[in-house]
Amino acid sequence: MFALGDVGSAPYSHTVAANRKQAPVVVANLLAAMNGEPLPASYDGYAWWIFTTARNRMLLAEFDYSLKPHPTFPFINTQRERYDMWLLKRYGLPYMYWNLMLRGRA
Ligand SMILES: Cc1cc2nc3c(=O)[nH]c(=O)nc-3n(C[C@H](O)[C@H](O)[C@H](O)COP(=O)(O)OP(=O)(O)OC[C@H]3O[C@@H](n4cnc5c(N)ncnc54)[C@H](O)[C@@H]3O)c2cc1C
Repeated sequence: MFALGDVGSAPYSHTVAANRKQAPVVVANLLAAMNGEPLPASYDGYAWWIFTTARNRMLLAEFDYSLKPHPTFPFINTQRERYDMWLLKRYGLPYMYWNLMLRGRA
């Protein structure tokens, strides 16, 4: 049985961020299963949560099953409230969702 997204019962955070990482894993494993091959992909529980802390400030918490930080941008501390993370949420993530995620490009 394969599942992804909020309907799944594994102990991951129910977020679109998790869905985004799960989708390619499910696709790869489904294709392999249909061809009678071993399942090649696995999901590490990655998710993020966005916390808007002010009108123009935000922090981004990224973690996996171990609950250890799992930063996409290791060169900046996104666990402190930041203006650039607010810009990411306001402009970057909608673009990413509509133009990349829904087309299977991110
Ligand atoms: C207030 C709120 C804020 C959130 N903020 C964030 C955030 O900032 N970042 C983030 O990453 N995630 C956020 N999330 C979580 C995110 O929205 C969900 O994790 C994501 O939408 C789950 O997607 P999904 O496709 O798995 O499920 P859903 O989006 O729930 O899609 C399931 C679909 O199945 C349909 N359906 C149900 N039963 C049937 C049926 N019997 N037959 C046919 N269709 C059916 C439903 O109508 C629905 O359209 C937020 C959630 C909430 C509620």
